[in-house]
Amino acid sequence: MTKDKEREVFEMNTEEKRLNSFKKWPYGSDTSINKEKMAAAGFYYIGSKKEPDLVRCFVCLKELDGWEVDDDPWEEHKNHASYCQFIQLNKAESEITFEEMHDLEMQRQINMASVAEPPADDEIPSCSNAPVVKLEQGKHYKGRSHFKPGRS
Ligand SMILES: [Zn+2]
Repeated sequence: MTKDKEREVFEMNTEEKRLNSFKKWPYGSDTSINKEKMAAAGFYYIGSKKEPDLVRCFVCLKELDGWEVDDDPWEEHKNHASYCQFIQLNKAESEITFEEMHDLEMQRQINMASVAEPPADDEIPSCSNAPVVKLEQGKHYKGRSHFKPGRS
């Protein structure tokens, strides 16, 4: 990993940088999943044409898409990744101490190493012959699923 690349990922530690990643976020400020709330909940934008609302947590690296306009980003993060250190810290960024941020960064690097996934490409050429179906570890499609576990 180059120095620049490393820094780019590292800088997702700040809410401002995460916010800046939401340039193509399809939801407006009048929704409860606006980019400010997404960034405050630890998410940054990694979407593409195929997955226009895909985001990732900068600590646990959980990826979520299928957002509904009345979702609460923090609640969704908690529901799908309650183990996330950022969620467990449960603080606004302005209240996070340097030591806590350092811990988050340590945890993020451990998570990065265990996921070992190349960064998402923004533009995947549509002429590719290979089927683009892929199951990514840690990815969870959270929306528009009507599957319910059977009762016993
Ligand atoms: Zn997380």
